Amino acid sequence: GLSDRLQETIKKIRGKGKVSEADVKQMTREVRLALLEADVNFKVVKDFINRVKERAIGQEVLKSLTPGQQVIKIVQDELAGLMGGEQSKIQFSPKPPTVIMLVGLQGAGKTTTTGKLANYIRKANNKNPLLVAADVYRPAAIKQLQTLGGQLSMPVFTMGDKESPVTIAKEAIKKAKEDHHDIVFIDTAGRLHVDDTLMEELEEIKAVTDPNEIFLVVDAMTGQDAVNVAESFNERLNITGAILTKLDGDTRGGAALSVKAVTGTPIKFVGMGEKLDALEPFHPERMASRILGMGDVLSLIEKAQANVDAEKAKEMEKKLRTMSFTFDDFLEQIGQVRNMGPLEDLLAMMPGAGKLKGLKDAKIDDKKIGQIEAIIRSMTPLEKSDPDIISASRKKRIALGSGTTIQDVNRLLKQFKDMKKMMKQFMGNTKGKKRKNPFN
Ligand code: GDP
Ligand code: MG
Repeated sequence: GLSDRLQETIKKIRGKGKVSEADVKQMTREVRLALLEADVNFKVVKDFINRVKERAIGQEVLKSLTPGQQVIKIVQDELAGLMGGEQSKIQFSPKPPTVIMLVGLQGAGKTTTTGKLANYIRKANNKNPLLVAADVYRPAAIKQLQTLGGQLSMPVFTMGDKESPVTIAKEAIKKAKEDHHDIVFIDTAGRLHVDDTLMEELEEIKAVTDPNEIFLVVDAMTGQDAVNVAESFNERLNITGAILTKLDGDTRGGAALSVKAVTGTPIKFVGMGEKLDALEPFHPERMASRILGMGDVLSLIEKAQANVDAEKAKEMEKKLRTMSFTFDDFLEQIGQVRNMGPLEDLLAMMPGAGKLKGLKDAKIDDKKIGQIEAIIRSMTPLEKSDPDIISASRKKRIALGSGTTIQDVNRLLKQFKDMKKMMKQFMGNTKGKKRKNPFN
């Protein structure tokens, strides 16, 4: 696929001691395709590529000791720069309540994001939010917000579906002042397409509530369309930021780049799931890596390829998958891992590993690896393949034989167990997803 080709090119260029103009051209060609495939607007791509070329062929790179890496860094820097700095700060009103209005197409994630954002800001900024149900067109919309409010123990202001959203919004602000809410989140209606009636309504809500922020909620999976949507909403409402939802899906997130580049509006947050805590501040560097489809995974692949015998790694993976992984395998893997650098670093690079519980407990101190090897070598073959049989007296024998303590033996047994558990989780996590197997 395309990202494979890009990774090939990047890999080739990364190691180069000298980068020619032809190398840069090939690289930018692949980057260009990757961006287009990631749904970045073509005008944005063109400008971007020109800037990268200029810098990459310039002095900056020629003088560098590692020109290959320098070129890659330029690409990532420029991409991150395009998306702006970290922008998760909210404009709070000096005179409460702060009003935040969420707008966007139907299904973009407005209602969900209203709950998530209120939850986030309540925690991060110690605020007391009021949620406002101003979508009166979909019968379930009010109920949906009320359910979220219930889950968050957060009050929801509604007037049913008989009043106009403009009236509801106006009354909600009054209510917020009465009840001393210092921040108000207005969940508005969406349509399947940008339409004039809706825009007029949103303009009116804006006029009566004077919001400090108008966030456009965009579904990251809508790709190119996101740009047109952002432009339309921005023209009518002057949005102050965008929130990109559903980034937990397969999308590359190129829409993020286009939205920022085309409307000049920063991405403030990203939605990473349906749960109420699945909202994160936007990180431009991470998004840059994601769009290019490389990032940490690439360096992991490089490391693994350079140091691990591919056949062995495959076999190992199969064992992990089937849970027939034994201490003998562990020992062998320790040898291989030793050549790759700290195990912790390696685990940290695995996609999804950051989310794994138990990663900390499974961490293996490099200095202790010698000790671990000694303990494993003191086990009998049966003990190695079935550690469950290791009784107290066996532990004592193993400790003596390896010059360690029973606590050391216990710790290793626990680490081994945790590692198996973690690997199982890891295999489960990535199964079926379009992720690169680092050991393939
Ligand atoms: P609205 O019509 O704009 O109010 O959209 P909703 O808030 O009702 O969301 C539409 C659907 O998208 C719901 O099923 C949400 O659970 C889902 N959704 C919203 N944000 C995210 C996200 O960040 N990730 C995922 N996976 N689903 C999301
Ligand atoms: Mg909704």
